[in-house]
This record gives sequence, C-alpha cells and structure tokens, in this order.
Amino acid sequence: MTSSDTQPDCLFCRIVAGEIPATVVAETDTTVAFRDINPHAPTHVLVVPREHHQDAVELAEQSPGVLADLFTAAGRIAAAEGIAADGYRLLFNTGADAGQTVPHAHLHLLGGRPLGGLVG
Ligand code: C5P
Repeated sequence: MTSSDTQPDCLFCRIVAGEIPATVVAETDTTVAFRDINPHAPTHVLVVPREHHQDAVELAEQSPGVLADLFTAAGRIAAAEGIAADGYRLLFNTGADAGQTVPHAHLHLLGGRPLGGLVG
C-alpha cells in the first residue's frame, strides 16, 4: 500500500478531518492528538499524522520528519498532562500480530500509573 495525503475510508483520516468526533487534546500542522476511546491508563492519547500512512515504518520511510513530530507532540502532551516527571510509555503497534487495528500510523502515549512490564 502506498500512502497518500488522506484515505476517505480511513477512521483516523476521518477523525483528523473532523468527520468523526474525538476528544482532541493537541494539534500541530502535521499531527493531531486525541484521547483513546478505550483507555488503558489514566492518560491514553493517540498522536497521529495528518497524512495517511498505514504504519509507523511506512511513515518513517516516507515522512521521517513527521515521525519525529509525533514524538515531539507526545512529549509536550505528557508535560501538559503532568506525567512527564513520573514517566510514560510511547508505542506503535505494527501489523496484525501486534494488535494494530487501525491502519493509520498512531503513537500511543500511556501514563499516569506504573505501567509494569513490556506492554503493561
Ligand atoms: O494500536 P491499535 O491499532 O490497536 O490502536 C487503535 C486504538 O484506537 C485503540 O486503542 C482504540 O481504542 C482506539 N480508537 C479510538 N477511537 C476510535 C477508534 C479506535 O481511540 N474511534
């Protein structure tokens, strides 16, 4: 699959476009961050690129600057949420075996409690 700016049938493209509601916590020129509807921690935010890429590796290959923007945004959100000092987890699920359910790259920001082992 190749990327394009947006995919009309992509859930996260539609959230970025404002067509599907989400609790947006931050936006930049290249990213949108919103609260996960099924949170696994007191803070669980998804940071997504505005442009469509099916996963983080495709994003890295095609728009490495935007990949960096996701991490910069996540750090700012962690600070705004008051969890930066205690720590937090950033992760990308990539593909079916990892449990990726939405094929639009998204960085999970999890924190606000001790997260335990590898995936908490
Ligand atoms: O990494 P994965 O693809 O499993 O993560 C997708 C995430 O998107 C899930 O945590 C799910 O709760 C979240 N989601 C959401 N809003 C939607 C649909 C899914 O926050 N409308």
